[in-house]
Amino acid sequence: MSVVVQKFGGSSVADVPKLERVADKVVATRESGVDVVVVISAMGKTTDQLLGLAHQVDPNPPRRELDMLLTTGERVSMALLSMAIQKRGCDAISFTGSQSGIMTNDRHFDARIIEVRPWRLEDELARGRVVIVAGYQGMSYRREITTLGRGGSDTTAIALAAALGADRAEIYSDVDGVYSADPRVVPDARHLPELTYEQMQEMAEAGAKVLNSTAVEFAKRARIAIHARSTFADGRQTVVHEGASDEGSAAVVGQKDLARVRVAAGDLAKALGLADELGLSVRQSGLDGAEASLIVSAGGPDWARARAALEAGGCAVEAGLGAVTVVARELGGRPAVMASAMTALAAEAIELRGVQTAPLRWTGLVDAARVDDAVRAVHAVMG
Ligand code: ASP
Ligand code: MG
Repeated sequence: MSVVVQKFGGSSVADVPKLERVADKVVATRESGVDVVVVISAMGKTTDQLLGLAHQVDPNPPRRELDMLLTTGERVSMALLSMAIQKRGCDAISFTGSQSGIMTNDRHFDARIIEVRPWRLEDELARGRVVIVAGYQGMSYRREITTLGRGGSDTTAIALAAALGADRAEIYSDVDGVYSADPRVVPDARHLPELTYEQMQEMAEAGAKVLNSTAVEFAKRARIAIHARSTFADGRQTVVHEGASDEGSAAVVGQKDLARVRVAAGDLAKALGLADELGLSVRQSGLDGAEASLIVSAGGPDWARARAALEAGGCAVEAGLGAVTVVARELGGRPAVMASAMTALAAEAIELRGVQTAPLRWTGLVDAARVDDAVRAVHAVMG
């Protein structure tokens, strides 16, 4: 029998009535005659609330204990969903990430899946059960509980689809796919029916929240098609797959919470090593004459501590930055597109604090507070 992996995000299970509707949907899929694996996120804003609790106790909580705490969110929703499905007369069973055989490295709070051993899940599917897996978590080879980075349930879904031989994963959220910009920021953004892995990965890395960037990377490697859909509205979807056309799918993405770290050119390698030690994700690094700099994500739980360590290590840290990124095919070879983005920013008096280009991407650094304005201005001229 073919296996379908369906992942439901936190907004799809924000309260019990919504969770009941997800249960209806899962049961209908099961009754269509396929094996169903459901990957579930924590209810609503649970993960943020748990993080908030941790920070009340310690502004720099130990990462291992954070993982112990945060994984409980998905454990709540998986158990409730299993109950709701069983109540409908459909056999179901829920598992944590470690019970599902999701093995990771030991980098707490930002672990990477290195192997999936899905035998337990396969046995339960063979018994005719719907299998529900807690997203966003696994177990390290030291048998420690880990989490996969924010939004990591998508990665769980793709990794399971690959391990179970599914050819696609359905990712359900409160939006019906991917748009040419975040529709909450740009109301007239265009819906994009299909995207290549490369475009989606650039968008996710540039800060698009619809799909997790590691999940897209895994999907590309295992050739899993991603169907991004809305949980409660039938109709449109975005399919990220190998055969997608890359025409007409230019998109603009904003990101806040970035910082620039400046060092002398000779200290770049040292600064990169330090960033790695501190668990910072480095978005870009560059060297120009005597000056070198890195752009890092400044939003994680360890940022305050990381910033202090960078400054103690002789780096100058400029926080409060954000970025606006255009993703489009052959962008690197089309300077006119980049020029129009820059002109659009200037017309809104948005100061450009740096520029980076890559084959599919143009990124302008701006003040974090102006990111939404920048996305609107650039989107308006991207057509
Ligand atoms: N609950 C986790 C988060 O909010 C994982 C996820 O939703 O994918 O980041
Ligand atoms: Mg979540």
